[in-house]
Amino acid sequence: MKTSYLIAPLLAASILFSSCSTTPVTGRKQLNMTSDSEVAKMSIAAFEQMKQQMPISSHATYNDMLQNVGFRISQQVFADMPLAEWEFVVFDQPEVNAFAMPGGKVGVFMGLFKIVKTEDELASVVAHEIAHVTARHTHERISQQMVLGAGSTLIGIAAAVSGTAALGNGTYINAAPTIMGLYGIGAGQAAASWDQGKEAEADHIGIMYMARAGYDPNASITVMERMVELEGPMGGNNYNSTHPSSMDRLNALHSYLDDAIAEYEKSKDMFF
Ligand SMILES: [Zn+2]
Repeated sequence: MKTSYLIAPLLAASILFSSCSTTPVTGRKQLNMTSDSEVAKMSIAAFEQMKQQMPISSHATYNDMLQNVGFRISQQVFADMPLAEWEFVVFDQPEVNAFAMPGGKVGVFMGLFKIVKTEDELASVVAHEIAHVTARHTHERISQQMVLGAGSTLIGIAAAVSGTAALGNGTYINAAPTIMGLYGIGAGQAAASWDQGKEAEADHIGIMYMARAGYDPNASITVMERMVELEGPMGGNNYNSTHPSSMDRLNALHSYLDDAIAEYEKSKDMFF
C-alpha cells in the first residue's frame, strides 16, 4: 500500500513533537503527540474548504454579535493560542451547532440562534467551543487516532493540509468530511461528539473565559436551560451514554457560577 509511505514519516514527525501538556483552569495532564503548528495549519485549510462547501450567512445582526464576541473572547485566550489567525463566520445552516478550531477559526450555524438571543448568550457558546481548543481536546483526539493507528484519519489529516490525498491507486479523497468528523461536525448532527469529561471541562473553562471577557456568566445557564427544553424529557443520554445530558451540564454550570461571577465583577473595571 502506497499509503504507508505517507503515514510513516507523518507519525515519526509527530512523535518528535510528543509532549505532555496541562489544560487551562482545570489543570488536567494530557497526552499530546501532534505539533501545534501542524494542527493549526490543517485546521485553517479545513476551514477554507468548509467556507467553500457551506453557504455563509450575511445576517447583519448575527454577524455583528459574533464579531464582538469573537474579538473579546480571543483577547482572553491570546497566550494559549499564539498561532491563531482569528476568523468568525456565521454559516447559513439550520443545525444548532458551533465549533472552534486550533487555527483560530470559529463557525456558528444559523440554527444556534434558535437558543441564543443575546451577545452574552452567544459568548457562552463561543467560549465553550474555544475552551475545547485551549484544553487541547482536538490535539488529544488526533493523538488518540495516531495511537490507534487509524490510517484513514492520518490520510485525512494529510489531506487537510494539502487539500487532497492520494489513496494509492490514483483516486483522491476529500479531506473535509474527515476533519469535520474530528470536530464533531456533521450534516444533521446537533451536538459535537465529545465525551462527558471533555464537555464538563469545556463548560468549566468556557464560563471563566466569558466572565473574564466581560460577559455575564448567568447567560450560560440560560442557554443550557434552552438546550434541556430542546432535547425534551429524554435528554442527551438518549443517543449516547458517554455523552452528558444537558441537565447534567446545567447542574455542573451552577457549581461554577460563583467563581465565574467573581471574575465577571473584576472584568467590569476593564470593560464598563
Ligand atoms: Zn462541547
